Formats: sequence, C-alpha cells, structure tokens
Amino acid sequence: MNENIYPRASSVTPEQRRALTGQRAMVLWFTGLSGSGKTTVAAEVEARLVVMGFSAYMLDGDNMRTGLNSDLSFSPADRAENIRRLTEAAYMLADSGQIVLVSAISPTKASRDTARRRISPRCDFVEIYVSAPVEICEQRDVKGLYKKARAGEISDFTGVSAPYEAPEKPELMLDTASQTVDECASAVIAEVMRRQYLPAMTEAALCAGKEIMDVYGTDDFKVELKADSSPLTIADKRANAVIVDILKREFPFIPILAEESADDRSRLYSKHCFIVDPLDGTKEFIKRNGEFTVNIALAYKGVPVVGVVYVPVTGELYSACRGGGAYRKRSSGEVERLHVSRRKSKLVVMRSRSHGDQREEELLEKYKDRIARTVTAGSSLKGCKVAEGEADIYIRFGPTMEWDTAAMQCICEAAGAILLQTDGTPLFYNMPNPLNDKGFYIVNRPENDFINAR
Ligand code: ADP
Repeated sequence: MNENIYPRASSVTPEQRRALTGQRAMVLWFTGLSGSGKTTVAAEVEARLVVMGFSAYMLDGDNMRTGLNSDLSFSPADRAENIRRLTEAAYMLADSGQIVLVSAISPTKASRDTARRRISPRCDFVEIYVSAPVEICEQRDVKGLYKKARAGEISDFTGVSAPYEAPEKPELMLDTASQTVDECASAVIAEVMRRQYLPAMTEAALCAGKEIMDVYGTDDFKVELKADSSPLTIADKRANAVIVDILKREFPFIPILAEESADDRSRLYSKHCFIVDPLDGTKEFIKRNGEFTVNIALAYKGVPVVGVVYVPVTGELYSACRGGGAYRKRSSGEVERLHVSRRKSKLVVMRSRSHGDQREEELLEKYKDRIARTVTAGSSLKGCKVAEGEADIYIRFGPTMEWDTAAMQCICEAAGAILLQTDGTPLFYNMPNPLNDKGFYIVNRPENDFINAR
C-alpha cells in the first residue's frame, strides 16, 4: 500500500447498522460452471429475501463486467482481478449492512479463499457450490458460450478450455441437475434463516433451560393455577422473561407471542412473529419426570420457518429451518440430521401423558392391526420422537395453543413429517386467536394418514 495513504475506520459500528437494518449482514458467494444455475438461483433468493423484508443485493459477474469490470478480459490475471473487485464490492455492501449475493464462476480455489479471508472477519461468508455436470451445463448452454468455446471462438472457457476447481468444503452445495430452482432457493433461504435467527433462538432456549433447572433443583416450588386451570410455576415465569429479553434485544422489530406474556396483538400487523412456550409440559415439570421442553419458533406469514425445542433435563436441542433439514444436538455436542421413519406397518404412536381423548381411543382401536405399540410422553417431545424416527404418529384431538406446536411443527416438517389439523387442513400461526381447537396429528408419511383416510 502507498505509504501516503491513511485508511480511516468508520465511527459507525456494525451494531448500529444492525439496529437499523434488523438483519445480520452476510455474503452468499455462488460459485460454479457457466450455466450451472448461479444467477438463476441467486436472483430467486434475492427476490424472496426482499419480499420477506430483508435488504439484499445481488452482484452478478456478467453485470459487473459491463460496468466496474468492463476493462477486464478473461485472462487468468484479469479473472483474478475480476474476483478481487467483486470481493471488494461485496465487502463494502456487507459492511453497510446488506445481505450480498455474489454470482460468479470464480473458478480458482485461491480467489475464493482470498474473498473469504477478506470478508469473513466482517461477516459470514457462505460459499455455495452450484453444481451440475459440465455436459448438462453444455446442454443448457443458456448464452451459447459452450458452442462458441467448442468452435474455438472463445479461449479460456471454464469447463472446456480452462479449469474449474470445485470447492472442497462449501457451506452449502446445490445440485441443479437433480434439484429444482425452487428447492435450491429454499435451501439457500433456510441457510440464511439459520444464520439470522438460530444463534439467538438457541441462546434464549438454553438460558431458559438454565432458569428452569435452577427451580427444578429446589426442594419445593409454588404452583399457581391460571384462569384456564393449567398450572404455573416460577420456572415458567423466569424462563419466559429471559427468552423475551433475548429476542427483544436481538430482534427489536419482531413481535413475540409468548405463553406467559400479555398479548398486545401488535403481532397481527407483522409478517414475522416469534411464538414461545417457555416451559411446555409444566405438569410433567411438577411431576418431575423430565418430560418438558422450551419451545421457540419463528413464524413467517403464518408458517413456522425456524424452530427450536430444548430439553433441559437431557440437554438435547432440536432445531430446524424450513427447507433446510432438522437436527438434534446432544449435550455431548454430537449433531445428527433427523429423518422420519419409513415404516408403513408396526407403527409406533405417541400419546399425551396428560390429555387422553375418546376419539383417539376409537381411532387406535380401529387401526390396531397397523400399530405395534403406543408410547406416552409429555410436551413437544412427542413430535420430536416422530422427527427422529423413533415414533411414526402423534395424534392430539384436544385443543392446543400456538406455542404448543409451532416449534415442533417446524422440526417435524423439516424431518419429512406431515402435520395437519384433524380435519385435514393446515395449521397456521400468528392468528388473532392463538387457540387451535380442531386438534392436530403428525404422521411420518402420507400412507399412514388414517386420520383423514378417504
Ligand atoms: P450461471 O449463472 O451459473 O451461468 P444461469 O443461471 O445463467 O447459470 O443459467 C442456468 C440455466 O439452467 C437457466 O436456464 C435455468 O433455467 C436452468 N436450470 C435448470 N434447472 C436449474 C436449477 N435447479 N437451478 C438453476 N438453474 C436451473
């Protein structure tokens, strides 16, 4: 650097910018062969993010070459310079608080690593490998470039006459030969949601778990009865308070529907809403059988898109983002992706410990030939058992509140399960009345939906 240049640090902090935008800045770097689908997927993701209320901006390699980089050729040196300028542009946009989507072949590992080194101290750098066999890219030949390259009209064409070094450990890999544009975009959105929301939601769930275990460990705690005769303890209140504090600190613009907070209904004017049960299974907590959870979900337009269920006694943490898979983290730190079972017979049915129902009895009797056994458990654990494939069905005819099911639903659906109301209609959230009075069920696969069997 020239010795007469004195870079000046901004007096505006990243936290100030974050408070303004309400989002974590990040760079999503799409790399892959020409025609692999980088621009198509990145443009779809950008459009969806903006509709969802994020400030996102795409830097497309070709567009950059018509402006800032119009002086560059495709020689190795100019390609490196092209990526360097893209990196700097992405850095500046991210520094201003944007979610930046870069779509550029970026064929060398070295250039992508340089981009990562430059950007990752400031914000998340998410390398997305948009993969498709060169034969398929050539068949697509969107811009007719493969044809020209084969005819020798273009030299140094990546995949034909210049190398492409595939990323070894990208944060995300998309296979556009087998996945649709919609699936690819959903996977990227899930990754963005995970990075935007899961850290704070997880922190809130763990802190709530600590409050709950503090009370659980005491000899005696007072049990009050709420207006609906359900029990309430100091653990519910303390867990509720810590969750609301953390979510408000991190996401001041997103309203919260929490079981132990007054509902001011401002949430009805928002597309996003956190839905919180600070202690699901208070009865199990009082019985001290360990079967209680902390549930935190984020609903977007009525659909749970991020969900966390924490089991304080075992330290297990279930989490999911819609379109991005469900995971269980054990207290040992081991993380496993969850999938529902494929069973169609000898089914395992989860039943509530505290809420029996005549209709449930009749249904189980009618289909007893397909059922191996029923298992009772408290709280959202029942849904988590279906998500991890230990059980196949969970039926609940009685009424529930939104906070009982939102996080569990996200986890179950991301693991491949189906959750419907008992009349076969979907369950929506952030409704004027958070009571779901139709009951619901979860099944591992459509063939086992004997609740709405036609
Ligand atoms: P790139 O930006 O990687 O050069 P483009 O996005 O310009 O590629 O072109 C990809 C082409 O492949 C488009 O015509 C798109 O419609 C098609 N395509 C087919 N399936 C997919 C997919 N799953 N993801 C992205 N593009 C796809």
